[in-house]
Amino acid sequence: MNARVPLSPTFANGDVSHWYRSGGVPEPGPRLDGDTRADVVIVGGGYTGLWTAYYLKKARPALDVVVLEKEFAGFGASGRNGGWLTGDLAGSHERYARTHGAQAARALQREMFASVDEVIRVCAAEGIEADIVKSGVVNVARTHAQAVRMRAAVEQARAWGFGEEDLRLVDPGDHLRVAGARAGTWSPHCARVQPARLVRGLAETVRGLGVRVYERTPVTEIVPHRALTPYGTAQAAHVIRATEGFTARLKGLRRQWLPMNSSMIVTEPLPASFWERVGWQGAELLGDLAHYYMYAQRTADDRIAFGGRGRPYLYGSRVDARGHTHDATVEALWRLLVDFFPAASASKVAHAWSGVLAVPRDWCSTVHLDPATGLGWAGGYTGHGVTTANLAGRTLRDLVLGEESALTALPWVGRRVRAWEPEPLRWLGVHTMYRLYRVADHRERSMTRTSALARIADLITGH
Ligand SMILES: Cc1cc2nc3c(=O)[nH]c(=O)nc-3n(C[C@H](O)[C@H](O)[C@H](O)COP(=O)(O)OP(=O)(O)OC[C@H]3O[C@@H](n4cnc5c(N)ncnc54)[C@H](O)[C@@H]3O)c2cc1C
Repeated sequence: MNARVPLSPTFANGDVSHWYRSGGVPEPGPRLDGDTRADVVIVGGGYTGLWTAYYLKKARPALDVVVLEKEFAGFGASGRNGGWLTGDLAGSHERYARTHGAQAARALQREMFASVDEVIRVCAAEGIEADIVKSGVVNVARTHAQAVRMRAAVEQARAWGFGEEDLRLVDPGDHLRVAGARAGTWSPHCARVQPARLVRGLAETVRGLGVRVYERTPVTEIVPHRALTPYGTAQAAHVIRATEGFTARLKGLRRQWLPMNSSMIVTEPLPASFWERVGWQGAELLGDLAHYYMYAQRTADDRIAFGGRGRPYLYGSRVDARGHTHDATVEALWRLLVDFFPAASASKVAHAWSGVLAVPRDWCSTVHLDPATGLGWAGGYTGHGVTTANLAGRTLRDLVLGEESALTALPWVGRRVRAWEPEPLRWLGVHTMYRLYRVADHRERSMTRTSALARIADLITGH
């Protein structure tokens, strides 16, 4: 590791994520042992799969629900993320409105806000201890161009009918003193969560409800009414795919969603004097408006967990195994962290890791169930899945049970999205986008509006 990054003597790289550090990486449970039948088979033991199982069992306790997970529940992004339980929606309101109109897009956004509270409610009801605190989210603009974008975003929110109580401009010094911040927003629709505790708590809860969760069981192919694994075939009226960033590894789905990496570092615990100095008194989440964005949380044990774009995309939609993160990414994240909070330079990096999220061609999420084949799926959350997966779980419940509801009428249900381009175009597009974003951020330091390079990058990838 580069000597410019101060590492804790117990520094760890990968090993899934820091969120498993205190409890240890879980030992996978039993695998599928021969063919089986169920009412619903769910592929993937992250938030999407587990919320779907949870709500199905709550609605119909007699349903036989099976979850097939290739490693252990919480191995994917659900056990590695930044812990923003956010009401933000992937993609833009305009895109969801295109098919169903503005009213429907607004309804989807309102459901997202409500889903933050729904997750908190279920955790309290089921005794899931996930360090959840709803203190809202602060975003900062550190260049003039970012501040212009920020004001435009607030105006756009107003035009969509969201008021001061949903998103408002604040004096950047009021909440969190980030070096160089020129403008800020605050929204109440976000809570801090310890991601792995949430996903492991959910897994335990659904097991307690009678869901059969098989781990170390990779599904090699999904066909109507069947999920194929090396250890047997699981048959059901409905098979739900909940594999998000790993979807491209399944047969026939290579170009559906692009697996995009995101990386994080976490510091050692910081003293009370640090938190007083920077004015970070609650558990507010922190983000920014750079194209090469960052996201951060103050953990329950007083560390900063700080994330951003890592090595973006591996050729051929490959995914890394256990979250090992390149030195250059660790260094870039550390430098940015210290740039935000110079007082954190006395700290050390305790852990670095990466994970994979799914990006659809139009950057908007989808939930879907085909009644003819019984095949369903939800995802394409583009880094906004902690809350969205809960809404997906409740929507898939209604779709599987054949009940028309306010949720099944939302505009992300049944969307059709075109596939990504074949290689090498996919690789070239994503890498060009990253390069342009990086240069655009640099140029915007001396500009008063968004760099044309960022707009070109958006055009190339459909962002
Ligand atoms: C570093 C990072 C930071 C993030 N930060 C945030 C954040 O702060 N807020 C936010 O809202 N979102 C964030 N996200 C995104 C969020 O974590 C995801 O959208 C969400 O966890 C997706 O949940 P999921 O259950 O759909 O997918 P996953 O959690 O990825 O679960 C998919 C599961 O399927 C299993 N699987 C895959 N293929 C197979 C197969 N063939 N057979 C069987 N099992 C299989 C995997 O092992 C995995 O356990 C972040 C993501 C990353 C990587």
